[in-house]
Amino acid sequence: MTNPIQIRFAGPAPTDHELWRITRDPAPQLQDGEVQLKLSHVSVDPAMRGWITNKRSYIEPVQPGEIMRAFGVGEVVASKAEGFAPGDWVTGFTGLASACVLPSKFIRKIDISLAEPKDYLSGLGMTGYTAYFGITDIGQPKTGETVVISAAAGAVGSIACQVAKNLGARVIGIAGGPEKCAWLRDELKIDGVIDYKNESIREGLERETPDGIDVYYDNVGGEVLDEVLARINRRARLVICGAISQYGDMFNMKGPSNYMALITHSARMQGFTMRDYMRRVPEAFMQLLKWKHQGKLTYREHMLEGLENFPQAFEMLFRGENTGKLLIKV
Ligand code: NDP
Repeated sequence: MTNPIQIRFAGPAPTDHELWRITRDPAPQLQDGEVQLKLSHVSVDPAMRGWITNKRSYIEPVQPGEIMRAFGVGEVVASKAEGFAPGDWVTGFTGLASACVLPSKFIRKIDISLAEPKDYLSGLGMTGYTAYFGITDIGQPKTGETVVISAAAGAVGSIACQVAKNLGARVIGIAGGPEKCAWLRDELKIDGVIDYKNESIREGLERETPDGIDVYYDNVGGEVLDEVLARINRRARLVICGAISQYGDMFNMKGPSNYMALITHSARMQGFTMRDYMRRVPEAFMQLLKWKHQGKLTYREHMLEGLENFPQAFEMLFRGENTGKLLIKV
């Protein structure tokens, strides 16, 4: 039997290509309290850029030589942990490996009769929950309010668009390129789109938000955040989910210069991670599943095959080459 494959963080490097090292080490012996997993899919996330940056954050940075942190989904093949048995399906921080041994506290069971394993990394997993809580708990759009969402055709953004629509908001998506904008308009049926790669963001916002902006779900930061701030309404809510336009240099991120608008419009800007909402995961899962069954939630995955393709996959995110949640089928 061949050894499992692992993707390890090699250490800081001048190019993204040199960040990773592929190994084929045997999985360690199973200890008490641990489970052995065979992974079916792993998730490729922009947050990985933060996880390999040695900077104060919500989670410890991955150290050089360690298996890269990642969400995964897989089947239990052996268990010395109470409550887990071979044949169970689980998700959690499994790391980038085709098989692994983990303390059971890092994973939770999933029910694959309700949804396919890959869905638990996509629209019905952390991606979906992030969009759900960001919109419902922080953005709190009221019927008829204008909600603007950046990276709107991406994994989190596309779910956020639909959650906001389902709550009765008028939704405007910002995305890069005609294909992504057409998908948002024609498939997700949102109310307006701005193709930031082919038109001025300022002009696009003027056209699509004549009554100003009540809620902004920010995935990109940078210039888009500044332009949105210039158009917010009184008591607007800005949901700071991500800032991917700034991830190229994590030590020199640029904040908004227009933040005075928060004062003049009594507006609120709030960041969050899923750590704030872990106890409420069942609520998000059930609501998203219900919307999916009602035809009020759809999502797409961009599926690559083979863990060895992770380095290229990671770079795709920052070039906007993914269409939907970027996953690797192990
Ligand atoms: P996506 O599927 O949205 O993929 C990333 C997308 O970002 C790309 O496809 C691209 O879309 C866009 N993008 C890339 N570079 C830039 C840039 N320089 N300027 C503007 N847009 C850019 O990824 P996710 O849905 O997984 O993540 C979206 C955001 O949400 C990220 O910022 C991420 O860090 C954040 N996030 C936050 C979480 C939290 O708990 N707070 C949890 C999960 C994600 P396009 O072609 O349209 O430019």
